[in-house]
Amino acid sequence: MRMVNCEKCGKIFSSLSSRLCDECREEEDKILKRAKEELYRNPGLGMMELVQRLDIPVETLEKFVREGRLVLRSKERVALACEICGREISAGKRCPACEAKVRKMARELYREAKIGEGMYSLRTIKARREGPHE
Ligand SMILES: [Zn+2]
Ligand SMILES: [Zn+2]
Repeated sequence: MRMVNCEKCGKIFSSLSSRLCDECREEEDKILKRAKEELYRNPGLGMMELVQRLDIPVETLEKFVREGRLVLRSKERVALACEICGREISAGKRCPACEAKVRKMARELYREAKIGEGMYSLRTIKARREGPHE
């Protein structure tokens, strides 16, 4: 056993091989189950359609597909741009670099102002990104 940070929520937990804490893994299992049920009813759905129908994070869905836990019949590819820096990305809303920054910032803001993660605005993030500490 070793102590690791949960890949998703950052919580420190002891793990043998998983990179997610128990809660996050349970959460992912739930999402996977819903996605599979939706695909069973509508086998032709593409990734973005699934994301919209189920309101789940596209990153999570991408991961399932990458790991072979979910098979999509539709092979749609959507051109996406990072919502922060505009760089082209293959999945999600942000490039990995911005995603990491956003998560870190969300945690900092949370600590500073004791606000929920959903309450920071994109403008705050952009302003900080262009700030002197970059
Ligand atoms: Zn977690
Ligand atoms: Zn970016």
